[in-house]
Amino acid sequence: MKKAIAVLSGDGIGPEVMSEAIKVLLRIAEDFGHEFILQNALIGGTAWEIHGEHFPEETKKICEGSDAILFGSVGGPIQEQGNAKWQDCERNSILQLRQYFRFQTNLRPSKVYPALADSCVLRPQIIGNGVDILCVRELSGDIYFGEHRIEVIEGVKNAIDVMTYDEITIADIAHAAFQAARHRRKKVTSVDKANVLACSRLWREVVTEVSKEYPDCQLEHLLVDNCAMQLIRCPTAFDVLLMPNMFGDILSDEVSVLAGSLGMLPSASLNKHGFGLYEPSSGSAPDIAGKGIANPIGQILSAAMMLEYSFQLVQESEAIHRAVEKSLDQGFRTADISTPNDRLRPISTIEMGNIIIKNLIS
Ligand code: NAD
Repeated sequence: MKKAIAVLSGDGIGPEVMSEAIKVLLRIAEDFGHEFILQNALIGGTAWEIHGEHFPEETKKICEGSDAILFGSVGGPIQEQGNAKWQDCERNSILQLRQYFRFQTNLRPSKVYPALADSCVLRPQIIGNGVDILCVRELSGDIYFGEHRIEVIEGVKNAIDVMTYDEITIADIAHAAFQAARHRRKKVTSVDKANVLACSRLWREVVTEVSKEYPDCQLEHLLVDNCAMQLIRCPTAFDVLLMPNMFGDILSDEVSVLAGSLGMLPSASLNKHGFGLYEPSSGSAPDIAGKGIANPIGQILSAAMMLEYSFQLVQESEAIHRAVEKSLDQGFRTADISTPNDRLRPISTIEMGNIIIKNLIS
């Protein structure tokens, strides 16, 4: 298979973790007989330095001409956000990319590997044999895209945020969730606030209707407040978590904490046509950038998601997942996931990449 991939490494640890993901992809290409044409493009502060903007036209063109986008991360240190280079950097790059390509489905898998149980904030009895949740978040509707205004009514300030959802948008994301569930443990938990919100009542009605097309999958509805609680009390009960935009924004962060480190988490944003952007869930981590200690696993697993969702290369994607799990089972840890009880010293970004590649071919 021949595929063009736009590689947008970005800022901070972006280029460091991206190098490891690229090494893994090239090894997969060699082992499985594929050709990946990698086209580097500038984004974020790195693009601003050369083009004076965070998402230059040239980058847009490279993305348009590609079969998928592999994204690192953007942004500078929080204390330097006032500098023109970093001001609105995240909004001007990643949010613009999301809007430009109309990404409407966000997939964020979060896994507690048995080997990393010590890094999880929950007790071992709660995480059992490991947690494996896929967050499916709708990205294009909800309160973020409605009208926002503050007005003075009879001398009192009033804030108004409009929440809207249409049945087509809800049905699209529900199909995405059930299709993903079919390849997993076949359970979808749909989150809403149907006891209060009209949007949630429509959400529940449409999701229930769509579920009839997937009789092999189980559907349960949970109110968002109860869901937030159950995720901590019994995370092993969840498989696919289907959420509207705002509840998804909040709960997917709650779920991500279970994995122990932000550096472990991949994500995918897909549009209606299956075109996707793949990126780690973390930011550019300026506090550790340039030290060679960032965890590359989130970026490597993002590349694995790209193989699976954009190129349907399921075997190749599974090979990467197995290699990551084996590396963790062997006791290898970057600093963010290491604990004082570990047998081995924490390893560098490059060492973790090399070990995963070794496990890929052995
Ligand atoms: P962050 O996710 O960059 O870092 C939070 C913490 O997690 C830091 O202590 C960091 O060292 C650690 N961390 C993150 N990724 C890691 C990895 N791979 N390995 C080891 N440790 C890791 O969040 P922040 O510090 O709030 O934001 C820093 C910058 O990133 C800001 O400019 C922000 O705007 C930007 N940001 C970008 C994106 C994106 O590109 N999609 C997302 C979130 C934040």
